[in-house]
Amino acid sequence: MRKKVIAGNWKMNKDLNESQSLVSGIISGLGNDDKCDVIVCPPYTSLNEVHALIKNTKVKLGAQNMFYEESGAYTGEISPSMLKSVGCEYVILGHSERRNIFGEGDEMINKKIKKALESGLKVIFCIGESLAQREESITNDVVKNQIVNGLNGITSDDMKNIIIAYEPIWAIGTGKTATPEQAQEVHSFIRNLISNNFSNEIAENIVIQYGGSVKPENAATLLSKPDIDGALVGGACLKADSFLSIVASA
Ligand code: PEP
Repeated sequence: MRKKVIAGNWKMNKDLNESQSLVSGIISGLGNDDKCDVIVCPPYTSLNEVHALIKNTKVKLGAQNMFYEESGAYTGEISPSMLKSVGCEYVILGHSERRNIFGEGDEMINKKIKKALESGLKVIFCIGESLAQREESITNDVVKNQIVNGLNGITSDDMKNIIIAYEPIWAIGTGKTATPEQAQEVHSFIRNLISNNFSNEIAENIVIQYGGSVKPENAATLLSKPDIDGALVGGACLKADSFLSIVASA
């Protein structure tokens, strides 16, 4: 039985004080039950302090990106060991905003995934189609290519440390959510693909999150689908009460 995982991607929001108060609100509203895992992904500038606050709680820490080299002349970039040194356990890679605004392609994302895993970070690997691609009925092809290229050279053992986040781009930050049926259809396709490319056991155990305008009002129905194992939440994770309500749905 897969455990649900709810992750909050704070994106470029929350300065240090705001981050501390958001995570404090989350911690104080979380129950003690262990039914789902909770990850927060604040901006780099807040990671260290957020880590100090989540110590001894069930909340885990993730970063929103990283580079695939360990150190050197890469102005503005951050390495996996830097993230680990401030308590990160997870890193989001391949987010559509990284792909579309910052031009990251599958090859770069693959290098980042390999480096993150080699460094002992767990990866939330984002994939998803644009509206035009959905309208062309090529969603499955797009998602398949992203998975095959992004996970090129990844071993079965590595797969234990990967979460896949299916995030249709047309649903991110737009208020439009994929219907639970639309999301389930793609999630099931992804699980079959993982089964064919790795093994049935890996496919049965991998967590596949849905992301794209998840909010308290739609979380429960999305999360009730058999292949939707959690959510990657953007806008609705910026307030403790709405994030907590999504966690409660899980
Ligand atoms: C995201 O960016 O990962 C996301 C799902 O954002 P939102 O929830 O705001 O659509």
